[in-house]
Formats: sequence, C-alpha cells, structure tokens
Amino acid sequence: MSGAAVDWSGINQMGLEEKLPSGFLLTTVEKLAGYMRKNSLWPATFGLACCAIEMMAIGSAGKYDISRFGMEVFRASPRQADLMIVAGRVSNKMAPVVRQIYDQMAAPKWVISMGACASSGGMFNNYAIVQGVDHIIPVDIYLPGCPPRPEMLMDAILKLHEQIGNEKLGVNRAKIVKEVEASAIAATPIHQIPVFGKQG
Ligand code: SF4
Repeated sequence: MSGAAVDWSGINQMGLEEKLPSGFLLTTVEKLAGYMRKNSLWPATFGLACCAIEMMAIGSAGKYDISRFGMEVFRASPRQADLMIVAGRVSNKMAPVVRQIYDQMAAPKWVISMGACASSGGMFNNYAIVQGVDHIIPVDIYLPGCPPRPEMLMDAILKLHEQIGNEKLGVNRAKIVKEVEASAIAATPIHQIPVFGKQG
C-alpha cells in the first residue's frame, strides 16, 4: 500500500453518480425498478423466418454485440426470458405456439415485432399467415423493414429500454397490458380492411 490519496475526480463520469446531486439519490421506486429492468433483459431463443438471421447478427461480437447491454444470453427456456423478438412471419399453425411461449415467459415481459411480416403479414396477404402478431400477443415495439438491418434492431432495443425505464409498476402496468391486449385482439385484421384486402 502506497498510502497515496485516492483520486475521486473522475467519479462523476460514471453515469449513475451524475444523478446524485450532493450525494443524494433523488428518484422514485418506479424509476429505480425501470432502471434495473431495462438493464437486465434476456431475449428468448426464438426465430421464425429470414428476419431471424438479422436478429442473430446482433449477437456477433465486434460489429453489433448486444452483450454491451448484457443481453447476449438468448435463453433456451422461455421461463428464463423476458423479451420476445418476433423475427419473421407467423403462420396460423405457429400462432398457438407463439402464444404459449409468450405465456411461459417471466413477467414483466416485452415484445418486439421485427420486420414487415411479423407486424402486418408483410407481402404474405393470404390465409396461411397471421396479419400482424399483435392479434396474438401484445407488442411493445414495431420495427419496420424487410428485413430490418441489425442496426435497426439495436435501435429498437434502445427505444424499448427507454420505454421500460418509464414504465408504471404493479397494478398500473397490469391494467395497461390488459387494455392493449384487448384492443389488439379486437382490431380488424388487415386483410379485412378494404384498402388492404382484395377488392370485389
Ligand atoms: S420481413 Fe422480409 S426478411 Fe423478414 S420475415 Fe418477412 S420476408 Fe423475411
């Protein structure tokens, strides 16, 4: 031990400390929970079509590397995951499976609908494909593109982080989820909207 005085001058650059004016933590329990939740997301290992290749790319070290957010651990069990990235078109046959995986995930949980197919059926306006995964599960972030680039998925994840950081807690959150889910399920399927569906 040299006995030299510790230099604390750089501590204000560490992030959290910037939010501690005069050494006091001024926040709410909701904000603290949001801060911890957004920084501890684990995605479910789950891919449906071509978008999944772009999703896999974000785990590659070097260029994208979501381990910088502590999210590189794609969980093989939905019970250990709290983020579902719906990467690809959802067939009617797969719909109950998607719902079951969602139901088995740990709460609170979030969903990113990745790509045109997952969000609206994309170019597959037919009987076999669900015209938007929000008819099955509540979606928090819609990501456009066919396919979206990995950078776009990273951006969607950052936007989800922001959303989670400001989320309500407890019964307030449960109420919002129920309302969103009920309105999504009650929505008119895109193929039944005249402007999108077949005319005549
Ligand atoms: S949006 Fe494009 S890339 Fe993604 S699943 Fe559909 S067709 Fe494939």
